[in-house]
Amino acid sequence: MRIILLGPPGAGKGTQAVRLAEKLAVPHISTGDILRRNVVKKTKLGLQAQPYMATGKLVPDNLVIEMTAKRLKEKDARKGFILDGFPRTLAQANALEDLTEIDVVVNLFLDPEDLVKRSTGRQVCPNCEAVYHVLTNPPRKTNVCDKCGSDLVQREDDKEEVVRTRITTYEDLTEPLCMYYKEKALLRDVYASGHIEEIFERILEALRR
Ligand code: AMP
Repeated sequence: MRIILLGPPGAGKGTQAVRLAEKLAVPHISTGDILRRNVVKKTKLGLQAQPYMATGKLVPDNLVIEMTAKRLKEKDARKGFILDGFPRTLAQANALEDLTEIDVVVNLFLDPEDLVKRSTGRQVCPNCEAVYHVLTNPPRKTNVCDKCGSDLVQREDDKEEVVRTRITTYEDLTEPLCMYYKEKALLRDVYASGHIEEIFERILEALRR
């Protein structure tokens, strides 16, 4: 299946995308993860993207479209994929249409105040990219990754002020995509509050619909 996960920052897209990719045995393609890897490696793309990411703004469409087109051409994406964090603008959605078909768009939604709480409590592993939350999904040992034992960190862009900018950016530029995919009869809304397992079940149910 070729699936897009839509939803504001803090809705749990990354966490659910990992599970879904495992369950469906397709790659999890997160444009945020790919960009962060480029920032760490200080590639040309990373250096261009970093100032936008640090302030909660979107990286310019042409850069992200080219990067995603390249990733979608890789062999493992032929059997399907979970796209997490792309498209984020109408220009990206239009470009995606020329690249591949999409079977379903899952839209995770939450109350705005819950979003801020979720993002500011998130912890990530700088080594293996595992994602935790101090309240809803804590690691077994405080601040230590269950999977690889590295010290967990807070993403720079999960600081409250940046999270608020990211939410506004989402509302202005990405939310219009819900209507875009609704008109194509691809959209499935899923309420993203509750336990991780419970939300995952709702997503599976939405895919069966
Ligand atoms: P994420 O991990 O999906 O929240 O992405 C982190 C940051 O990477 C975002 O705040 C943007 O600055 C950038 N980013 C990720 N995906 C995209 C995209 N599709 N278009 C533009 N910027 C993106």
